[in-house]
Amino acid sequence: MAALADVTPEKISFQPQVKGLGCLKPETKAMIAELVAKIGPIQITSTCGGRHARHSQHYSGKAIDFRPMATSPRKAAAAARSLASVGGVGSYSNGLVHADVGVREASWYGYKRSRYASAHKRGHYARLARNSN
Ligand SMILES: [Zn+2]
Repeated sequence: MAALADVTPEKISFQPQVKGLGCLKPETKAMIAELVAKIGPIQITSTCGGRHARHSQHYSGKAIDFRPMATSPRKAAAAARSLASVGGVGSYSNGLVHADVGVREASWYGYKRSRYASAHKRGHYARLARNSN
């Protein structure tokens, strides 16, 4: 299986708190290789550690958060979404992008907002007020 051997190391950098890619699943590393081939260098800000209550794919080594260095977060997220190996993509308000190889699900935006937010979008139920004039 093609892994990070194909990726030039200078295309990937890490924030200090990231210990490296050792905890990631092979398919996640392959996803990273595809990603940097498409969008250029990235700085990985999170792999398996950190706080990730909202998307536990991180804990199973199936997700990364990164900052695109050569394109905008918006374009990077769009490119990630176009990759067959990518399951879920998210955009943080601080410019980071989340990509995982989990089951594909609805995209989400924003750090605080739950991915269930859209399911919450209720139809406006207008209650008929009795007009007693
Ligand atoms: Zn994430």
